[in-house]
Amino acid sequence: MSSGASASRPRVVVVGGGLSGLSAAIACLDAGAGVTLLEARPRLGGATWSFDRKGLQFDNGQHVHLGCCTEYRSFLDRLGTSDLAPLRGRLALPVLEPRPGSGDPRVGWIRRSRLPLPAPLHLAGSLLTYEHLSLTERLALLPPALRLRTTKLGDPKLDRSSFGDFLGRHRQSPRSVAALWDLISLPTTNLHASDISLSLAAKVFKTGLLTRADGADIAWSDVPLARLHVEPAAKLIARLGGEVRTSARVSRLVTAAGAGGGPVVSEVLLDDGTSLAADAVVLAVQHDVAASLLPPEAHPDPTSLRSLGVAPIVNVHLVFDRRVTDYAVVAAISSPAQFVFDRTSAAGVEEGRFEQVLAVSLSGAENEIGERPQVLIERMSKALTDLFPAARRARVLDAVVTREHDATFRGVPGTAALRCGPETLVRNLSLAGAWTDTGWPATMEGAVRSGRGAARAALAAVGRSTEHRTGIAAHQEDRSKERQEAIA
Ligand SMILES: Cc1cc2nc3c(=O)[nH]c(=O)nc-3n(C[C@H](O)[C@H](O)[C@H](O)COP(=O)(O)OP(=O)(O)OC[C@H]3O[C@@H](n4cnc5c(N)ncnc54)[C@H](O)[C@@H]3O)c2cc1C
Repeated sequence: MSSGASASRPRVVVVGGGLSGLSAAIACLDAGAGVTLLEARPRLGGATWSFDRKGLQFDNGQHVHLGCCTEYRSFLDRLGTSDLAPLRGRLALPVLEPRPGSGDPRVGWIRRSRLPLPAPLHLAGSLLTYEHLSLTERLALLPPALRLRTTKLGDPKLDRSSFGDFLGRHRQSPRSVAALWDLISLPTTNLHASDISLSLAAKVFKTGLLTRADGADIAWSDVPLARLHVEPAAKLIARLGGEVRTSARVSRLVTAAGAGGGPVVSEVLLDDGTSLAADAVVLAVQHDVAASLLPPEAHPDPTSLRSLGVAPIVNVHLVFDRRVTDYAVVAAISSPAQFVFDRTSAAGVEEGRFEQVLAVSLSGAENEIGERPQVLIERMSKALTDLFPAARRARVLDAVVTREHDATFRGVPGTAALRCGPETLVRNLSLAGAWTDTGWPATMEGAVRSGRGAARAALAAVGRSTEHRTGIAAHQEDRSKERQEAIA
């Protein structure tokens, strides 16, 4: 059965209901197009999802964004939920190192100066006194930092070598790599410095830390991700007249000759045998799925996208019977734990109760992805007792491990050229996804940027203005319209 595209309102079909698909759908609706979003799974959210367990809520993995993630924040503004994921003020990240045999860990801080200093001076004070490095190592941070600051992002040469090689050329000690460079590049790129392409690491350091003083101020959600952006996005799509179909797996994009001669996607086929006519299609799926769904006319070599590979993330969620730390977030070095977040209130622990919920986030988790959950739980429980002395007296009431095998693409040298989009060689087919050529690592920011970029390309293909309403102004306009409708 095929449902036809509307003559008056161009219909954009968005394939994939992760952040890139959701943001593309909203951008198209905001520009006046009709939208049908098709998601293969029974739920939206893609790589960001939440679940209930014994009355508490958990995310598939701790998600963090930074002050420089302007498009993701404007997406939250559009949904009216940015207050639920506030920027936590000036960057102030405690970095803990266990001291075997001694009670308390050693604590160093990476933080933005209280003084209104421009970048990169905003970090100079904290790095010059950084507890985990010797004075020589601290002074040696300066040349590579300045080099990264003046790097021309997008220069193809950057993608020929690894960040590790760059740090080696700048004589960074293994200790500096572990206690500073990797500490930042691993959670943001999902690969260790030795593996990650210099182009992605340069993006992180230049945009996050070395350009704007507030670029690395940290934000994370006070509620499960489903409540932060998945459910609000679904509601907004419905309110704007769009349609969302879950458990709707697309099996093929059918092309035909377009009016101008070149190929266009004319129909979207679903696994269940139904089809949809489309004026434009945004393909917002993972890169390996794009490799099999892209029509041969759309890309010189769709199968090459598979070479982007995958990199895993593992989270170990622990419910303690009491508070074991007052830190909201810590980074750990010389420890199997990398980053630890307090998720107590987000998990829904009622006020007045004593339990504390912590999420230990492990990026680049090649070694952990195949391990038995119990082994990981025991290892992380022990690691936390080394970091938080109060955990030694606490009991773990519950624990669960979430494993995302293909959390992100594997951004090793040579992958920049594989990242394409949003336009394809088929005029009305555009590509979105955190893996596309956004310049960003695979992040929520990259996903939203790609979704909005693909929407612009789709709208241009159907002759719609690329102007779309974004951010808080559009959200407020909608709310006031709703209020007026409610009064009427
Ligand atoms: C555990 C974890 C932790 C992370 N931490 C962070 C973090 O701290 N900060 C950050 O910025 N980013 C983080 N990320 C990365 C971020 O979540 C992703 O980059 C982003 O959500 C990807 O969105 P996307 O829309 O590009 O892809 P996806 O979310 O993968 O969406 C693609 C969608 O397409 C659907 N689909 C596939 N095939 C079909 C088909 N044939 N038909 C219909 N639909 C189909 C899929 O089911 C999926 O829903 C993390 C990711 C994980 C997994």
